Amino acid sequence: MITIKNLVKRYGTHCALDHVDLHVDKGIILGLLGPNGAGKTTLVSILNGLTDFQEGTVEIFGLELDKEPRAIRRRSSFIPQSLALYDNLTVIENLRFFAGIQKISGQCLRDTLDSALSVNRLHSMLDQKAGTLSGGQKRRLNIAIGLLNNPEILYFDEPTAGIDPELRNDILETIRCFKEQGKTVIYTSHYMPEIEKICDEVAIIDHGRIIRQGPLATLLQEEKGGSAIIELLPASEKKLQQLVDHHDDVERVDATTLIMHRHNGQKMGRILSALESEGFAIRQIRYGTQNLEALFLRLTSPERDHA
Ligand code: ATP
Repeated sequence: MITIKNLVKRYGTHCALDHVDLHVDKGIILGLLGPNGAGKTTLVSILNGLTDFQEGTVEIFGLELDKEPRAIRRRSSFIPQSLALYDNLTVIENLRFFAGIQKISGQCLRDTLDSALSVNRLHSMLDQKAGTLSGGQKRRLNIAIGLLNNPEILYFDEPTAGIDPELRNDILETIRCFKEQGKTVIYTSHYMPEIEKICDEVAIIDHGRIIRQGPLATLLQEEKGGSAIIELLPASEKKLQQLVDHHDDVERVDATTLIMHRHNGQKMGRILSALESEGFAIRQIRYGTQNLEALFLRLTSPERDHA
């Protein structure tokens, strides 16, 4: 459904996407995961024809993006993180306005409106001004607007950023529905438990390069020995680095986080006593359960060389 080859995007001299190759099959939910500034938004903007690129090819629905951007855009939808709503218009007026911009009308609009409203449970608030909706309802309206063209591919840019866990689950359920309808979803997020919950495949991007892509289960296998993340209270970074330099069993993720791959009691005991004797205080230790997070931290850790 989406095939990207050797994609390069530069902003001036800065290379935001560095020879990216990526393939996405129809009907899956792909989680696009990466640290701040990794290139996620740039990639999604390119796929939506909002940003140009310098090298490479992008094919979506078998069409070349640089030759048929409009035909591709008609069949896809980008749901941005920021809300693009008119507060003074009601829910239905917002939907009609955005449908008008896309020249969607008649029976086509009636069908798509009905489905967008049901999936997002907005029927009961059609005449309510968007400005008076709760944060979660606004997000739902934002998603409903993105569904007006009945897209085959949906791009979500951190749809659950800054919202409470209950609403987050609600939105995740809605996204799962799209998959059941045969749609393809590309989903960027920093929340790894979410990605684990809903994505079939994951692509990890760092410094503009895709450093891992594959089925979630396959990637998690990489961490099957189990990793433990040791979080410390802030202390001397220099001292922490010295400690890490003397212990092969552990890597430093950042100023207060260590990661131990394929941990066992003996290795953990050694590290904990070394930390204690150097005066470090442990905030918490997290074992195994957040495997994707462990893999992500290992692959994108600033101390590692991905070249
Ligand atoms: P975040 O998770 O923080 O949103 P991201 O993975 O989406 O990050 P991008 O927004 O794609 O990252 O940015 C990738 C890199 O390109 C960053 O170094 C960013 O500073 C740079 N960049 C993005 N947009 C522009 C622009 N319009 N002009 C110059 N540099 C840009």
